[in-house]
Amino acid sequence: DIQAPVAVALRGDHLPRGEGLPNAPGRPDEYFTQDGQITRAPIRAISLAALAPRPGELLWDIGGGSGAISVEWALAGGRAICIEPREDRTDNIRQNIASFGLCDAINCLQGAAPAALEGLPEPDAVFVGGGASAALLDMLWGLMPAGARLVCNAVTLETEALLIAHHADLGGDLTRIQLSAVAPLGRMRGWQTARAVTQWSVTR
Ligand code: SAH
Repeated sequence: DIQAPVAVALRGDHLPRGEGLPNAPGRPDEYFTQDGQITRAPIRAISLAALAPRPGELLWDIGGGSGAISVEWALAGGRAICIEPREDRTDNIRQNIASFGLCDAINCLQGAAPAALEGLPEPDAVFVGGGASAALLDMLWGLMPAGARLVCNAVTLETEALLIAHHADLGGDLTRIQLSAVAPLGRMRGWQTARAVTQWSVTR
């Protein structure tokens, strides 16, 4: 049976089952140094799928938070510039870059978009996880080369309204992601629904 030896060879080099870094985005939040501002694993997986990394491509990760989006992009073979204004968070981002062994792939910039974008090399994809504004989206549309992807996540009504308006003008996909997970409810269990995320994904 030709399948069996191949399966054995693929399961990491002699690691026990279930050990080692998983290969797919949506890795557990606990893998990252963070302060609660992190795109949660399931939403992160959906966001990375929309960003669609190819080897060697460059991501601008605006609103870096913990850097988890940049880390998962780089683990897929890309390079990233991770932009975050808060110094306590750039500390977390740099720690995550180092602990995942991605110092050559990710550059953490302390600064706020849109000003921080000036002079950066052309991106293949842009993720906006924080700092969205009409000024930022308009500037991105001007800076992004044809074929580049933009993925923008919103949790507030204000940002969602911005994405709805831009989707009407520019097209792309507008998706509402509403996840529930089971949590204790008294002595029983119930669905706990997380804040909905509205995601706009568009190719320039
Ligand atoms: N995607 C991140 C979480 C983003 S939380 C992760 O997975 O860890 C949103 C972040 O956007 C916050 O850290 C906030 O400080 C940052 N932010 C807010 N305004 C910004 C701006 N104008 N430019 C860049 N980042 C900004």
